[in-house]
Amino acid sequence: MQKLEHIGIAVKNLAEANELFARLLGREHYKVEEVESEGVKTSFFDLGGVKIELLEAIRDDSPIAKFIEKRGQGVHHLAFDVKDIESSIQHYQEQGFEFIKAEPKQGADNKLICFLHPKSTQGVLVELCQDNVKARQ
Ligand code: ZN
Repeated sequence: MQKLEHIGIAVKNLAEANELFARLLGREHYKVEEVESEGVKTSFFDLGGVKIELLEAIRDDSPIAKFIEKRGQGVHHLAFDVKDIESSIQHYQEQGFEFIKAEPKQGADNKLICFLHPKSTQGVLVELCQDNVKARQ
C-alpha cells in the first residue's frame, strides 16, 4: 500500500451530497463521472492528495443501491494506491486475503481497481487502485 488514495461514501442523492460536502470541506468537487459497469455516478473532492469519492447508484442492482438498502448512507470503502495492482492481488492472496473478484477492472478517475472481500478484512471494504497511465507499458 502506498497511501490512502480516497474514502468512498455511499449517498442517496449525489447533487445534495455534493452541496453538503462542499460546505463541509470548504471546496467544490472537481469532477463527476459515471461508471456504467458498476452502476454508479461518482464525484470527487480533493483534500491535499487524499480524495473523498461520493457514490450514488444509477441502477437498482448497483452495489451502492444494495449497500444503502442494507446499511444506509455512509462510509462505503477505503481505497489504497498500489504501484502494480496485479502483483498486489497476488501478494494479498498469498497473505490469505480474499477478493470479491481477483482481477483488476476499470474504475472511476482513470484507475484500475480491485476490491478485497470485507469478510477477510473485518468488515471494511478495501479497494486497491492503480493509476491507469502507469498500467502495462
Ligand atoms: Zn473508490
